[in-house]
Amino acid sequence: MRLENIHAVVTGGGSGIGAAIARALATEGARLTLIGRRRDPLEAVAATLPQAIAVTADVADRASVDAAFAQARAVHGPIGILINNAGIAPSGPFARLPPEAWSQTMAVNLDALFHCCQSALPDLLAAPAGRIVTIASTAGVKGYGYVAPYVASKHGAIGLMRALAAEFAGTALTANSVCPGFTDTDIVARAIETISTHTGRSGDEALAELTRHNPQKRLIEPEEVAATTLWLCLPASRSITGQAIAVAGGEIM
Ligand code: NAP
Repeated sequence: MRLENIHAVVTGGGSGIGAAIARALATEGARLTLIGRRRDPLEAVAATLPQAIAVTADVADRASVDAAFAQARAVHGPIGILINNAGIAPSGPFARLPPEAWSQTMAVNLDALFHCCQSALPDLLAAPAGRIVTIASTAGVKGYGYVAPYVASKHGAIGLMRALAAEFAGTALTANSVCPGFTDTDIVARAIETISTHTGRSGDEALAELTRHNPQKRLIEPEEVAATTLWLCLPASRSITGQAIAVAGGEIM
């Protein structure tokens, strides 16, 4: 067990990629805190893991993050691993995007990283091998149409990880991004619905529109993203920092 009793916080741990990451970290003995706004999905995932708690919080709200992390520490001790995974992905033509779509996406996908990283930082720096892994996206390194706030926020997320990697390079803390291509989760199910509603295409046609970006012509599985995230958290990955690693079936960026 290479992460035995290390306390890992996973934001958005109640569904999709976050739940898969929680399961992967648990296989190496980590104690998990799963954070999200809805309690039921968090508790459903936590119930399947040996040492996991569910804590509700809005990661876009600093006071909510601080309170959640305090609650998490009280149960599992100092935070050794922070997985910034919570995210949203509204879509639409740039000309018609309401300003709220921009501000909400920035708040959840980027401001929240500032809040979570800063709130956990003293613990992460004191840990023997502190880890921050942010689930960014291929949209963090290239552009896609109809998701401008998402693309901008994910570019910012990767930038923040690079900045932290540089600032803390002389310590045992690493900060990296994982960049999945389109992955089989609720976010993509919602994107398929949106494409179908707005274009009249069938579900299969909408899915093909997303999988065309992946040379393997398929959605990535959440477990594939989790495996890369777990690897970055292991003690042997201590020299890997400031990187943005694509899990995208050969989509070139
Ligand atoms: P998902 O199942 O919709 O997961 C998003 C999670 O974020 C949910 O558990 C949600 O829980 C949580 N969340 C959203 N807003 C939050 C807030 N304000 N405070 C706390 N938690 C919040 O979709 P997913 O695909 O697994 O997404 C996980 C991450 O992967 C996201 O950052 C996404 O951008 C990234 N990603 C996904 C894909 C893809 O194709 N699926 C590709 C690249 C990157 P609550 O609603 O309960 O709060």
